[in-house]
This record gives sequence, structure tokens and C-alpha cells, in this order.
Amino acid sequence: MNQTDFSCLKLQHALLENLKTLGYQSMTPVQEQSLPYILQAKDVIAQAQTGSGKTAAFGLGVLEKLNVKRFCIQSLILCPTRELADQVAKEIRKLGRSIHNIKVLTLCGGMPFGPQVGSLEHGAHIIVGTPGRIEDHLGKGTLKLDDVNLLVLDEADRMLEMGFQSQLDSIIDRISTDRQTLMFSATFPEQIKLVARRIMKQPVTIQVESRHDDSTIQQHLFQAKDTAHRLTVLRLLLQHYQPESAVVFCNTKIETQEVADKLSDYGFSAMALHGDLEQRDRDQTLVRFINKSISILVATDVAARGLDIESLDAVINYQIAREIEVHVHRIGRTGRAGNKGIALTIITDKEKYKLAKLEDYLNQSIKPESLPPVNLLDKPAYQPSMVTLQIDGGKKQKLRPGDILGALTGKNGITGKQVGKIQLFPNKAYVAVSRDVAQYALSKLSEGQLKGRSFRARLI
Ligand code: AMP
Repeated sequence: MNQTDFSCLKLQHALLENLKTLGYQSMTPVQEQSLPYILQAKDVIAQAQTGSGKTAAFGLGVLEKLNVKRFCIQSLILCPTRELADQVAKEIRKLGRSIHNIKVLTLCGGMPFGPQVGSLEHGAHIIVGTPGRIEDHLGKGTLKLDDVNLLVLDEADRMLEMGFQSQLDSIIDRISTDRQTLMFSATFPEQIKLVARRIMKQPVTIQVESRHDDSTIQQHLFQAKDTAHRLTVLRLLLQHYQPESAVVFCNTKIETQEVADKLSDYGFSAMALHGDLEQRDRDQTLVRFINKSISILVATDVAARGLDIESLDAVINYQIAREIEVHVHRIGRTGRAGNKGIALTIITDKEKYKLAKLEDYLNQSIKPESLPPVNLLDKPAYQPSMVTLQIDGGKKQKLRPGDILGALTGKNGITGKQVGKIQLFPNKAYVAVSRDVAQYALSKLSEGQLKGRSFRARLI
């Protein structure tokens, strides 16, 4: 038996069998190193990033420890953002689908409070949520954590960076000290170590190498003459590489918006993602980026962390990040799971000192490359192959992906190949279709029927 085989672990049969059906053949490094300790009920601190398989590492720990027959909240998983909480809950439901009647509930800010109270009244085994909202529920007495015996802090560094320290403290105070605590974090600044010392008992520390090696991520450096020249360099790089999905990282919220607006003015398919966006706009931006009808997401590190964006073609640093670790983490978002990815970084003379630090950190020298030919600026900006159609109905109206696919590809419809990702929300659904059949697809949706009734649909 291979050491990285899940069957080495003391996991119940149902979980092991389900892992096979999920196609999880062997453990990722973070799973291999942390799971034996997690399953021995030890406290564990693991340095792990999105894409490392960290969710399954603590998720399997949560599921193995759970006693489904006791219908009370036994595990609490705290995450910095709603997106991450949703992903974590989804992964745990997937991992636990072979165990009957497991109830996983998400409690996040930005969502109406009332329905959450209703769901809590029905009870749950596992709560996944953001600190602010969990604290609100505790304050109102709508959530009790008396039976929690496993606490997980996911992306602990992000939660602290986002200012959740006091909420975390007050939540943790309400949980029995006779518990197991797991902490996952991409970085370990002093503040995290202090928290760990306070809330954990003789934790085992685990550090894994990033899943990427230099051969899958090519780093390219480009020199801009000055700050004003950066945008021109960015346009040249986008026109030259034409990435289907690229994240452009900026260091400030204001800059993300400015860069996204200017790129849009030049005809690129670009949107900004930052913390000041309304939840609805944020959801919509992500939907469009993930379904490949927006090619360029201009984001701050805060906004982009925790997003499980598979197969990014390119990560572009509009500047080098303020901290080298953050820069390396950004680059690690491309070229996931063996896909080839490119990392492009724009620097000016003023940032040369940061470059020296980066070279030192990576132990390699990175030389600026010449810019793509300027005549690329005269060509029209490249466009994504898909567009998004929004339907004014979703899960609450009992719509399912199959209904939408059926309406589009039914009699005289478009082909299945021309339909991309379908994403359902409570009252909305989004479907990506090939740009060249957009209008026809829209007419199929607005003129046809879904679940026996008509819904409004529009191109966004
Ligand atoms: P995470 O780092 O938790 O965001 O996980 C990244 C992705 O890897 C998720 O889509 C998981 O479903 C997937 N994954 C996690 N563990 C494994 C594994 N052992 N084998 C294959 N895929 C995995």
C-alpha cells in the first residue's frame, strides 16, 4: 500500500469508498502530513494554500469525528469570506455524501439573517461561516456552540488581516476548551503565532511545499518607464498573450477599479473585484469570470484570496506585491495541477529593490524581457469566446441546470457544445453560451418555457 493512499488512514469505510468515487486517488502533501494527526484528535497548524487540498484535510477530520446520531452542532469552521465558506461547505457535503443525514449549514454575512435563524432552528451538525455573522448569532442567542468539539480556522491569516480578531476571540470563548483545534493559513505572521499559542494545545505544525514547481510557472518580467506607462505595458501583454482567464493584481482597491475601467474603455473584457463591491455585484463578477465570459479580473489580494479559480492562464502583477510572500502566493494561482500558467510582472525602476528581494527569495535571477510590438495597440482588444445570459429564476423556483440546458438545446436549439457553465442562485441563474449564438440562445430562453413557465432572461 502506498503511503499516500487514503486507505492508510483510520477513516470509516463509507468515507474511503466515497473518496474513490470522487476520483481522489492519493493524498496531496498537506493531506498526507496532517491527516494522521488530525485523526488522532491532535491540534494541528498547517501552512497551506488554496489548491493544496486543505479543505479535504480538515473536512475528512470533521466528518470522521462526527457522530451523526447526535443531532447537535459538533464542528465549527470559520472562514474569512462567504465564497470560501460556500466552497468549504460544498466540499464537505461532497466528502460526506456517503454518510446519511449530515446537515452542513453556512452562516455568512451579506445574507439575510432571518432564514439563517430558521435553518438553525431545524438544527445542524456542522456550521461553516464568517466570524462577524457567527458572532451576531451568538449575541442574539440563535446559535449555541456548547457541543462543539472541533474548531477549524481556515485562512486564519486572512481573517486576522480583515480585522476579525475580536470576533474570533469572542467566538472561541464560547467553545469548550476541551476541543480539537485546527488552523490553516497561507502565511504565519507573528499575530497568528500568538493566537495559536493562546487557543491551541501543543499543536503539531505542518508545512508543505507549494504544489507548483518552476517548470509549470513561467515568470516573466517587464519594465515600464514610469507609473503612467504601466497601463500601456499591461495592454500590450494582454494583446500578446490573450489569456482566456487572467487575474491582474493591484495593491489598492482604487487602483483595481481604475485599471478595470481603463481596460474596459480600450475594449477589453475586464472587471474589478475588491472589498467595496456589493455582494450581488461581486457574485455576478465571479460568475462571469468563472464561466469565461469575462477574461480579465482586476483584483486586490484580499478579494482574490480563497477563490478556487481553476486553470487560470495568467497572473499579472500590475506591481510587485508589497510583501514577497504575497507575490509568490499570487503566482501560485496560475498553472494549477500541472496546467501550464504564466506569471507576468510589471515593474518600474522604483521597484527594483523588491525585485532583488524576490530573486533572493526564489534563489533565481529574473531579467526583464522586451515588450511585445507596439503595433498590437492598434488592433481591437481580444474578446472572450463566451457571454453570460441571466435568467430571473433560480433554485427557489426549482430550476435545475438540466432545465436550462434543455431549453437551450431543445428543438432547433443550439448545440450542447455552445453551452458553458450553468450556475444557480436562489433567485437567479446564469448560463454561459458561445458569443456567436448569444442572441439566438437568448430568444430560446425568453420565448420558451422552463419548468412550465416563462422567465425573463437577458444578456449581461
Ligand atoms: P482546496 O485546496 O481545498 O481548495 O482543494 C483544491 C481542489 O483539489 C478541490 O477542488 C478539491 O476537490 C481537490 N482535491 C482535494 N484533495 C484531493 C485529492 N486527494 N485528490 C484529488 N483532488 C483533490
